[in-house]
Amino acid sequence: MSKKILIANRGEIALRALRACKELDLKTVAIYSSGDKELKHLRLADETVCIGPANPLESYLNIPSILSAAELTQADAIYPGYGFLAEDADFAERCEASGFIFIGPSSTVVRQMGDKITAKELAEKSSIPTVPGYKGKIPQDETEVKKIASKIGYPIIIKASAGGGGRGMRVVTQEDELISSIQLTQQEAKNAFGNDTLYFEKFIKNPRHIEIQIVADGNGNAIHLGTRDCSMQRRHQKIIEEAPALNINAESLDKILKACLDLCIDIEYSGVGTLEFLYEENEFYFIEMNTRIQVEHPVSEMITGFDIVKAQLKIALGMNMTLDQKEIVFRGHAIECRINAEDPETFIPSPGTIEKMHPPGGFGVRFDSHIYSGYVVPPYYDSMIAKIITTANTRESCIKRMLSALDEFFAIGIKTNHSLHQKLLQDQTFCENKHDINYLEGAFLKK
Ligand code: ADP
Repeated sequence: MSKKILIANRGEIALRALRACKELDLKTVAIYSSGDKELKHLRLADETVCIGPANPLESYLNIPSILSAAELTQADAIYPGYGFLAEDADFAERCEASGFIFIGPSSTVVRQMGDKITAKELAEKSSIPTVPGYKGKIPQDETEVKKIASKIGYPIIIKASAGGGGRGMRVVTQEDELISSIQLTQQEAKNAFGNDTLYFEKFIKNPRHIEIQIVADGNGNAIHLGTRDCSMQRRHQKIIEEAPALNINAESLDKILKACLDLCIDIEYSGVGTLEFLYEENEFYFIEMNTRIQVEHPVSEMITGFDIVKAQLKIALGMNMTLDQKEIVFRGHAIECRINAEDPETFIPSPGTIEKMHPPGGFGVRFDSHIYSGYVVPPYYDSMIAKIITTANTRESCIKRMLSALDEFFAIGIKTNHSLHQKLLQDQTFCENKHDINYLEGAFLKK
């Protein structure tokens, strides 16, 4: 009897998961909110269940509703995707407690890594360098706090231990802003994450964002699929990602790859995951680990031929799977552009009807998206509507191929950041690979 997977997400990642399930002969249950009846993967799933109203709090974030759908359809496992409940340890735990396989690492590991202070401690234990800062949570006493901050040296960044999605962070450049910034961040963290624990880190001024994709089976086997460079960001949200990251010091890279695999083995990590780093002057600084699939996973797939989503399913379901680093062969370069339904200048979301669209295609072009002509982009969710991925032998040809793919792609009826991508891909700093995480919002947008 083939196993049944409930896909607890929407949009492109739900479709991506559904495709992987089909290839593995797994049955699928697609859940959706009443604001999402037109989702493409609903037409392709074996069963569908409406789990609540459009408001994500009442549907995609509604744990009892999702578990009821799983029970009703007698699903064996739950695929969380990214966003929503993907890194919610309580959700993982309740899946486990209700007898469903949570497709990801154990709830214990999700909890450990979801707490950024604990994650930093575990990383350090496995010899992964972290951003210098104060170990542990910020104490109450103001004089004590000021002392700690000046020891780290300004600028510092205040971060919420439970933070995510680029929220719950604040940079402090001088002491007289320190206390008020802590109070503000604390309030925000409490509202957003229900947890106001904060910590301090040195603010790294002009780093690149480099991350490492890992796959582990929880039985002492772990491999990496190399690096990704996700330095093109706006408000800490990635816009363009590529693999591999270029111009990385070979010695530092060797060391960090080994340490990442050691960490996975030390914590008995099972599934796929990403360790994120800031990289400056040949040094890596760990910032966090994402215990889930990431939006940008296709670029690693394209340079290795390794299907990351299938691996997630196989590992969680105990299907036969060998993880052998020697079998991972890296080839060429890949770039992903995130197409968002938003104004390319003001970045204001632009939901609405896509009257007509055409996807790009051709050699080395991949289009991961749930949209089609006539699809209505709902206003309730993240504005990303498509990912265009190009692969070629060199970064330069990849950029050319992406420009050609962007020329082919159109979506009429809504605004998208299509033209922003066209500008970025022709930008000299980007083409020379000299941008860092501040470039887009700083020098580029000020041009
Ligand atoms: P989240 O979980 O919200 O994504 P991260 O810790 O991964 O938070 O940080 C997101 C982004 O914030 C990073 O990619 C980087 O742009 C910025 N950032 C985080 N920590 C620092 C730091 N110590 N110095 C400079 N920038 C930072």
